[in-house]
Amino acid sequence: MSILNDEKNSLFKDDSATEGRLLPAIEEIIKTELSNFNQSVSITKRNQIPDTPQIPIQKPTHWLKIPDVICCFVDMEGSTKLSAGLHDKTTAKAYRLFTETAIRIFHDFGAAYIDIKGDGVFSLFNQNQPYVALAASVSFKTFVYDHFTPQVKKLTDKDVGGHFGIDQKTVLVRRFGLKRSQNRTDRQNEVWAGKPINMAAKLASLSTDNTLWVSDRFFRNLKDEKAIYSCGCPNGETKPLWQKENVSNDSRFDFDTAYSLGSNWCKKHGKLFCKRLLELDKIN
Ligand SMILES: [Zn+2]
Repeated sequence: MSILNDEKNSLFKDDSATEGRLLPAIEEIIKTELSNFNQSVSITKRNQIPDTPQIPIQKPTHWLKIPDVICCFVDMEGSTKLSAGLHDKTTAKAYRLFTETAIRIFHDFGAAYIDIKGDGVFSLFNQNQPYVALAASVSFKTFVYDHFTPQVKKLTDKDVGGHFGIDQKTVLVRRFGLKRSQNRTDRQNEVWAGKPINMAAKLASLSTDNTLWVSDRFFRNLKDEKAIYSCGCPNGETKPLWQKENVSNDSRFDFDTAYSLGSNWCKKHGKLFCKRLLELDKIN
């Protein structure tokens, strides 16, 4: 029996100033938040992902709602083989190479928002940028295959790869936390409530051997044959790039079908195909 729960043996039973379960400052926080919980929420619809300073933080009941946000999620496959205790320096190098390259590649493709979740990176694209989101993910996936995995293998003799996933759905966003505390702004962050970030991470967790998994609702955007069929290398025969995957038995998903892509950019045509995909979002 815990002395903290035992009324008879309470250490402080005679001191009336210490009665009650929680410290007064904590009671005050809870009171404020319960009163916010009981207020009605105001939601403003936006068609585009806003710049971070435009995301609400001050008014406790204000949120933005953005339809059909595309989320690309990447993290390391096999990262548990790396150890911060035994192989601290190679582990540090591997995390830098994976994470920093991911952030910079998604930034270069013009992601509207990028953040780190756990030891993975997610980036958000607007609903009218599906081909850009795909091109960015395939570019990062190609980097992992060409450089990351072989470099880490050389240093550690371990096979470490990448998990890649994309989903798309409506999100609510606001910032939570302390706007400024002792001149620090690091006690706040954006919260993206809704399916796509979690679903993209869960799809990524299913991907093995350098494949990209996307939900069917994202896949439906890909109508152009350049995103669906291969360039034809090496023998001139164009083939479907995607494989249909049944995820109906997996209760974590709110969709039944996903699609997986094994290929990376072709050594001969990759650059051309990437540029063509980027053009498609400009036309739409
Ligand atoms: Zn080719």
